[in-house]
Order: sequence, then structure tokens, then C-alpha cells
Amino acid sequence: MAAPPTASTRSADEELRDVQETSCCVVGGGPAGAMLSLLLARRGIPVTLLEMHKDFDREFRGDTIHPSTLEILDQIGLADKLHEIPHTKISGPTLKFADGTFRPFDLGRLKTRFPYILLVPQVHFLEFITREAAKCPSFKLVMHANVNRLLEESGTIRGVHYLAPDGPHEIRAPLTVGADGRFSVLRRLAGFEPIKTSPPMDVLWFRLPKLPNEPEIVGGAFGGIGGGRIFILLERNEYWQAAMVFPKGQYHQLHSAGVEAVRKSIAAIEPRFAPHAESLTDWHQLTLLSVESSRCPVWHKPGLLLIGDAAHVMSPVGGVGINYAIQDAVVAANVLSARLKSGRVSDADLAEVQRQREWPTRFVQSAQSFLQKRIIAGALNTAEAGNAPWQLRLFAKIPFVRDIPPRLIAFGPRRVRLREV
Ligand SMILES: Cc1cc2nc3c(=O)[nH]c(=O)nc-3n(C[C@H](O)[C@H](O)[C@H](O)COP(=O)(O)OP(=O)(O)OC[C@H]3O[C@@H](n4cnc5c(N)ncnc54)[C@H](O)[C@@H]3O)c2cc1C
Repeated sequence: MAAPPTASTRSADEELRDVQETSCCVVGGGPAGAMLSLLLARRGIPVTLLEMHKDFDREFRGDTIHPSTLEILDQIGLADKLHEIPHTKISGPTLKFADGTFRPFDLGRLKTRFPYILLVPQVHFLEFITREAAKCPSFKLVMHANVNRLLEESGTIRGVHYLAPDGPHEIRAPLTVGADGRFSVLRRLAGFEPIKTSPPMDVLWFRLPKLPNEPEIVGGAFGGIGGGRIFILLERNEYWQAAMVFPKGQYHQLHSAGVEAVRKSIAAIEPRFAPHAESLTDWHQLTLLSVESSRCPVWHKPGLLLIGDAAHVMSPVGGVGINYAIQDAVVAANVLSARLKSGRVSDADLAEVQRQREWPTRFVQSAQSFLQKRIIAGALNTAEAGNAPWQLRLFAKIPFVRDIPPRLIAFGPRRVRLREV
């Protein structure tokens, strides 16, 4: 007997199952889309969130919730509740150089209720946000909804067409938001072309087990350099989240050398973690993040707005991708809520969202690019661990200047707050 058709095998030309209406159709249930949906739904705005996967549990994509996001959740009374989910905290990394260890910044110095990055599995974070949104009657979540077409009338986007396991559907809305990530389908369908830069590195992510008598990692995170690699550890409750940064273009070389080479690199850079590295026995335990940094010159057209990774992919330096996606969502909610309530969203409103979010994005991408070229590329091109770069040591000593990096990482160049309407 033939297998029943799935969302991906059904034809887009099949008869429509239904056509629904909403005020805002959000495509993509990642941090940007989930957060925007929650903020709009709390304001009583009809919003439908379409997510192509059947659940929120998928490959590792970062678990960092920055002070900026925690402050926003605090504004809507959800920060304490989020802290009830098992988590760990990072206040700043300890970096190991030939001349000793060094902490380039300490979030603990920031004036905020949340002077740390909260590490919560992204699946739990997204379930938490969508569960809260579901308490609002104007919110609708459709899982397994694979958006494959924009509905366009006279140059304006009027909604989307999607495939679900039961067949094709349409949703019509005055505003469609593309929050569908770095490989955004909506961006492609709308004809937007991102400007890409190629950072000099790629990253392998993996887990290492917790063992008895664990070494203490001050600040909850560790980074060490050696043999043209950077080894990173983030403390989690039941395991270590680990990463190996290596020069772009070397993935095939690394893959052919096998997990044993990764184990050797870890043991050479941080011998205290050589026993943990023994748990790496199969290449499938490693996830590749092909590092990219990109930004669309235009994030909107009539009826359509891109936010989060769909509009700009951030380099992993500083781990700000989730934070920036959420800040886009907050600004979109600030600028567009009243318009959505009145049923009229103009292209100028969408341009205002881009205006408020583009310059902080450009600013941080430039800072990331500087660090990649001046410090990370240098570390990846030397066989031996060097001393801590003088720029880092200088930054950490000057009283006013030393608070700039933690502020930028925690909040970006502009603190985003939720405006009540
Ligand atoms: C391996 C890895 C590690 C990372 N580590 C970190 C980190 O430590 N800290 C950090 O801040 N950032 C990290 N990032 C980046 C971070 O994941 C992104 O910046 C962030 O998730 C962007 O959020 P978003 O909502 O814009 O997009 P995404 O999180 O990518 O969400 C997009 C959503 O859209 C859905 N979707 C896509 N196409 C369709 C479609 N056609 N129809 C319906 N739904 C669709 C996807 O299934 C997905 O759920 C990491 C990324 C990777 C890949």
C-alpha cells in the first residue's frame, strides 16, 4: 500500500483545505517568530504562527538568553517563570593563554537584575514562549506547516500558502513576517538578496559528559587556544556544551582525520578535559556550524517584513544571534502593534522597523568582524598558544572602557525595551 502523503510529498496544486484570515501571519517558530507572536497576542492582535517542524526539538542552535531578553521577559512578568526551567548561568569566559588565564569581561559588573547569560535548552525556551502565547485567545500555532508560496496582489503580499500533512492551506493577512531563519524561504520568494561576508572560521559543536570532581570554570565558560584551534566550554547542569573553532575551509580535512583528532586537540589545549574527550567516538556526535555573517539591504516590501536570521545572520562571536532575533521581534511589536490593531500597516511602518534595527546589527557585525580579523584569525593561524593580545588586556584594565564589551554583548549598542500600547 502506498504511504500516505506527507507535507513534503503533497502537491502544491492539490485543492486547498481552507483559507484562513488573521492580522499577522508569522512564518518560523524560532526565537524571533515565537517572541513576536507572543508580544502581539498579548496585545489582543490576531496572530498565526506557522512552523514547518512537528515540534521545537531539533539540532543544537544555541541556548543563550541574554540580559536584554531577560529584561524584556521581566517587563511582561515572565523572567522569574523562565528561571524555573533548569538552567545554568555565564557571567563571562575564562580564556587560557600561554601567559596564564584571563577574563576579558564580566557581565556581573552590569547594572541589571540579570547580570548573566542564562543557558536554557532552546527547545524548552520556545515551548515556554509559545505556551505563554497560547494563553491568549488571539494566538494560533500551526506546527508541520511548510510555507512555500507568498500570496501577492498588485505588488503587496497578502499572506502565504503552506503545505500541511492534510494538504495545502492559505492564510491571508495584512502583514506577513518572515522569521524563517538563515535559509529563509520567504526572503528568496520575495527576491531579497543578502550581502554576505565570510568570517575566517567554522565551528563544531558537541557535548562532553560531566565527570566526578569536575574542574571549576570561573564565569561558567572557558576558551583555550592551540594547534590552530580554539576550544570552548559552557557549563551546563548535566553536561558540558563544547565547541571547536577551526579555520574555514578545513572541515573536510578535520572530518578525514576523524574524532580522534578532535580528542587530541582537546587534550592538547586543556588537559583537564582529556578524560571527557574520550566520550567522543563517532563523528555524528559533532554538529557543524558553517559560520556566516550576512545582512539584507532591504528587510521589507508592502505586506512583508523579515526579522531575525532571515534579515541578518550574525557571526557566533559573542553568541548574540538569538538576542538580536528577539530584539527585532520587540521592535517590530513596538512599531507595528497599533497599526495592526487598526488593520493598516504601511511600507513606511515596516521601513521604521528596519531603521531601528539595522544600525545596531551593522554595528555589532563590524565589531565581530574586527575581532575575527584581529584576534581569532591570528589564533587560528598559529600552532602554539600565544600570550593574551594586548588589546584585550588593555580593554580589561581601563575602568570605563572595560564595561563596553559586556554591555555590548548583553544589550547591543541600543537597549531595547518593550513599549506598552
Ligand atoms: C549550531 C549553531 C549554534 C548556535 N549557537 C548560538 C548561540 O550559542 N547563541 C546565539 O545567540 N545564537 C546561536 N546560534 C544562532 C541562532 O540559532 C540564531 O541566530 C537564532 O536561532 C535566530 O533566530 P530566528 O528565529 O531568526 O531563526 P531560527 O531560530 O532559525 O528559526 C527559524 C524557524 O523557521 C522555521 N522555518 C524555516 N523555513 C520554514 C518554512 N518554509 N515554513 C515554516 N517554517 C519554517 C524553522 O524550522 C525554524 O524553526 C547558533 C546557530 C547554530 C546553527
